[in-house]
Amino acid sequence: MSTDPRTIYPKVDPPKQIQQEPGLDVKLDPLADIGEESYQGNGRLKGRKALVSGADSGIGAAVAIAFAREGADVAIAYLPEEQPDADRVVKAIEEAGQKAFAFPGDFKDADYCRELVEKSVEALGGLDILVNNASRQIWADGLTEVKDEEFDKTMQVNLGGNFRVTKAALPHLKPGASIIFTTSIQAYQPSPTLLDYAMTKAALNNLSKGLATALTGDGIRVNAVAPGPIWTPLQPSHGQPQEKVQGFGQQAPLGRAGHPVELAGAYVFLASDEASYVSGETLGVTGGTATP
Ligand code: NAD
Ligand code: MG
Repeated sequence: MSTDPRTIYPKVDPPKQIQQEPGLDVKLDPLADIGEESYQGNGRLKGRKALVSGADSGIGAAVAIAFAREGADVAIAYLPEEQPDADRVVKAIEEAGQKAFAFPGDFKDADYCRELVEKSVEALGGLDILVNNASRQIWADGLTEVKDEEFDKTMQVNLGGNFRVTKAALPHLKPGASIIFTTSIQAYQPSPTLLDYAMTKAALNNLSKGLATALTGDGIRVNAVAPGPIWTPLQPSHGQPQEKVQGFGQQAPLGRAGHPVELAGAYVFLASDEASYVSGETLGVTGGTATP
């Protein structure tokens, strides 16, 4: 029997809440489903070696857990202050019978971005899948309210960090490898309160298409996933004004925010041989909002 997508997961209707950036999954009210109980693997990534950034929490955590349950060893990247969330993900990867490696650091540090890739390749014994998922999102009440230092940090992390990690990874990728960027519905429908963040997501979407054009002929596929409103620590840690945290995601056509685990299948698909003819695509997982 099929399941109604409006009610398949517990409804997220969050009360007002605020956390310091970058926020913790373990402090979300209500807790988000990152797949610990709900994701079942089928060996679709058996023997693969994956690096997932921003993998302590939210979408990245759901992707890392799903990859492990599909048979991949996984290196995860995150900020040092996110260790309580990272511990949970490492445990889930190991319980799936796979190797987990944790390399905390800050994407604002160019040396860390390069070292992250080198350490991951060494620990995993190669690299087949790179998921560029880390980003920061700090809301502001219009363009003139975006502080210079916040703008610079957002560019350094979302653009500089993801660019450098990808650049460091390319020499290690062989035919069959898959690169996946996390972009956003914001790449197409920017919110007035997220102008700087939204422009980075459009740029990452563009980079994924440019790289696909450059690399597909070498047997390396590059794609993106564009999420809609997903309940993660990004939102209550200055990612939205408080009035938008309350009732977050209810305006989506499905009438609810998504859970991180609802993204996992899209990344598994794009990473796996099932997507052997898919490159240069952006897969929207938006709760029903149409993407171009
Ligand atoms: P999240 O907070 O769980 O994940 C974001 C991660 O980015 C953090 O866990 C952190 O590890 C990492 N990060 C932030 N600043 C960093 C820095 N300076 N250095 C290194 N890593 C840093 O939230 P999420 O919603 O799961 O976000 C994952 C991705 O999904 C992001 O790219 C985000 O833009 C994108 N996205 C989220 C939504 C949503 O509604 N939640 C919608 C569209 C796109
Ligand atoms: Mg986090």
